Amino acid sequence: MEMTEKKWNLELLHLGKMRCKKSRMILTENPEEEIDIPVSAVLLRHPDYGNVLYDTGNAEDWSECLPESIQQGFPVTEWVSIRTALKKKGLSPEEIDVLILSHLHFDHAGGLREFAGTKAGNAVRISRSELSHALVKVFTGTVGGYVKSLIDVPGITYQPVDQDTVLFPGLTLFLQQSHAPGLIGLEVETENRGTVLCVSDAVYLRENEEKELPPDSPNREVAQGFLEHLKLLQKRREQTGAVILYGHDLKQEEQWIEEEESDR
Ligand SMILES: [Zn+2]
Repeated sequence: MEMTEKKWNLELLHLGKMRCKKSRMILTENPEEEIDIPVSAVLLRHPDYGNVLYDTGNAEDWSECLPESIQQGFPVTEWVSIRTALKKKGLSPEEIDVLILSHLHFDHAGGLREFAGTKAGNAVRISRSELSHALVKVFTGTVGGYVKSLIDVPGITYQPVDQDTVLFPGLTLFLQQSHAPGLIGLEVETENRGTVLCVSDAVYLRENEEKELPPDSPNREVAQGFLEHLKLLQKRREQTGAVILYGHDLKQEEQWIEEEESDR
């Protein structure tokens, strides 16, 4: 009997949008230009290994819990609950087997509360260095994208990731030293898109890659680190024949979701 290897099915969940200065994402000639960026999660399903979710979007009470500085820099213009997005796929938070957070910024960890007390919520995968970093931030009142009420949640327990890990056959977590300490990326062999590298905020936009431009940062090291990491990712892509899923690229998100809907 011939066995065909089963692979993961990858779907993007649209969890809303934010608006920001384009320069927060990429160096640009016009510092006042604004763009819409999507907030999304990745749903991976496998007939043998179950349901894996990567990120959770913004919090329902974003207008109350996000500090003024974040609300001014990244106003939320659309919010979709992770619960609603999962429901559209016929799933509930209770049916997610593994939840991975790329990092603990508000627009990725905001829906964590929906997983309190669930199987996935009992072992949320996060990089150990990012968890330490975020906890110091929120317990010392320094912001930088971290909000205490979103990540210190009753009913949520973290399972720190210390190194690159094969979570299941065809699904590897890799730690990236860019944007956040140990930002988790996924390398996943999918049925519907071949090998995909989900890089989260290590690369925000396709344009970052095409123009080889980092975000506009006063810190030269940040820009340098961004470009060096981009090169690593490009090498990894060449070796695996993968496509890159960018962290906040509206065009790519819209295109992928459109394709998923026409596939059905
Ligand atoms: Zn983000």
